[in-house]
Amino acid sequence: MKYNPDIIKSNRKTVSVEVSPDGKVTLRVPERMTYREIEKFVESRSAWIEKTLEKYNSLSDTDLVPFTDEELSQMTQKAKLIIPPRVEYYAKLMGVSYNKVSVRTVKTRWGSCSSSKNLSFNCLLVLTPPEVMDSVIVHELCHLKEMNHSKRFYNEIYKVMPDYDKYEAWLKSNSIRFIGRLKK
Ligand SMILES: [Zn+2]
Repeated sequence: MKYNPDIIKSNRKTVSVEVSPDGKVTLRVPERMTYREIEKFVESRSAWIEKTLEKYNSLSDTDLVPFTDEELSQMTQKAKLIIPPRVEYYAKLMGVSYNKVSVRTVKTRWGSCSSSKNLSFNCLLVLTPPEVMDSVIVHELCHLKEMNHSKRFYNEIYKVMPDYDKYEAWLKSNSIRFIGRLKK
């Protein structure tokens, strides 16, 4: 199979693909997915995989020096100070209510919103421009209105943040510089 990925089968419903800074491609797939289906999926995501691999190649080793525990704990502290007030501000603006805001350090996402209205944000957001951090906050708060990524969801986002696409694009092309520095 193209990219010779590691395939991890488990009791999940969706497929996820991950590219690590050393160029390793990992797929997490549902138990009953066949080799051919996996191959097809890889094909469908090959443009993204290719782009991600290129991005890693264009980074020098020093760009990807792992964050130390000290750095991560400082970022987490900072995030815990900065993010909750921003969430409160935008929640008021959007007329939504939430439960808890937490800060996490994960490789897989910038933010999340649970069905029990708990929001969580990646501590690495403190390294991004303020508007980008806000765009992630608005995105997650918007899930309190729409638990999907439908057109309606994005229309809600644009009401609060007309330039949202710009920030999302920035995050897409730059996230590797931050997430790539997290240890496994
Ligand atoms: Zn989302």
